[in-house]
Amino acid sequence: MPISRRSLLRRLGASAVAGVTARSLSGVSLAEGQPPRSASPLPHPILLYRNENAYGPSEKVIAVLRDVSSLSNRYPRTEYDSLLTKIAALHAVKPEQIALGCGTSEILRLAAAAFLAPGKKLVQASPTYPALGRMAQSAGAEVVDVRINKMYEHDLATMLARAGDSTGLVYLCNPNNPTGTLTPRKEMEAFIRQLPASATVLIDEAYHHFVSPNANYASFLDRPFDDPRVVVCRTFSKIYGLAGMRVGYAVAAPDLVRRLAAGRLPFGISVISARAADAALDDADYVRLAIRRNADDRQEFMNQVNARMLRALDSHTNFVMLDPLRPVDMVLDHLKKNNVLVAPAIPAMDKYIRVSLGTPAEMEEFWRIWNLLPQSDKMAM
Ligand code: PLP
Repeated sequence: MPISRRSLLRRLGASAVAGVTARSLSGVSLAEGQPPRSASPLPHPILLYRNENAYGPSEKVIAVLRDVSSLSNRYPRTEYDSLLTKIAALHAVKPEQIALGCGTSEILRLAAAAFLAPGKKLVQASPTYPALGRMAQSAGAEVVDVRINKMYEHDLATMLARAGDSTGLVYLCNPNNPTGTLTPRKEMEAFIRQLPASATVLIDEAYHHFVSPNANYASFLDRPFDDPRVVVCRTFSKIYGLAGMRVGYAVAAPDLVRRLAAGRLPFGISVISARAADAALDDADYVRLAIRRNADDRQEFMNQVNARMLRALDSHTNFVMLDPLRPVDMVLDHLKKNNVLVAPAIPAMDKYIRVSLGTPAEMEEFWRIWNLLPQSDKMAM
């Protein structure tokens, strides 16, 4: 029974909402003989690949962005110091304990430059956020990748065993990207205490806000750990929805901050970015809303996972590691062809795909496209 593309797309959309797989549509032939494309009016492609805040920044921040565009002719003057002071107050530390960066990415690069060199080692988990590893290699340092354990936590015992006196930097991404999992706070503390004195410990809390209350988790900023080797970094790219503005920061002892900041570009953060980040810190209501919304979106994602009898790691972030029960390359290819971008294949976890949480409409489209995948042999067993 040939049907029009339009009515087919309508039927596919309805079946996705009902949780029906594409298999139940196998009696339908496409009038134009083409693979179905998305019917949704959503902007394409659907970006579920970089763990951004799909909802954007708060209205208050957008208003500030509109206002400050006329300052674009000026170099930053007071903006940098006001932001730094506000961040220091937020974490109850001195301004000289804050280093600002062009995103956390710059903080990672500054850490690699300050604490690594040929003959030095970076010790990190595998998989983890890969940027620092690449920067360490560029700095001529050895990168020691330690496979995460069976609970998808940092394998701290092995990391400790691999850290010798030449370890310049230890990277702990908590919650970890790409797994979305936590490493227990108590174990992190015991680990840090036993590290060689030469090692600086960089704790990346990019996804801190997304962690639901959990006995195993406490931020190293909210509950500081008294060790002068610890650097904690945070970003404005996730909860605040400001990835495009490129602002991140590190909190550490003043001498470490001086070493980090030595490599910064003068005026590396624009007037507009600094003002946007400043306004974002003032809008606590938006942070609360973003936390609640993410928890709901994550729960809904898991409901969809369960309805399809798929598997996913328990996420404490705004993304989920999903076992598609099908060849990963085929799934990535299918999603891409249908204008849905998820993270590229992750070699250290090659049976999973990482999906960032989008808006409800985007996720509905994700699952609609998902339902067009051929059913997995594993599922039929
Ligand atoms: N750290 C982690 C764990 C990340 O996942 C990311 C980006 O996704 C970054 C750092 C870089 O963030 P930024 O946008 O602040 O450079």
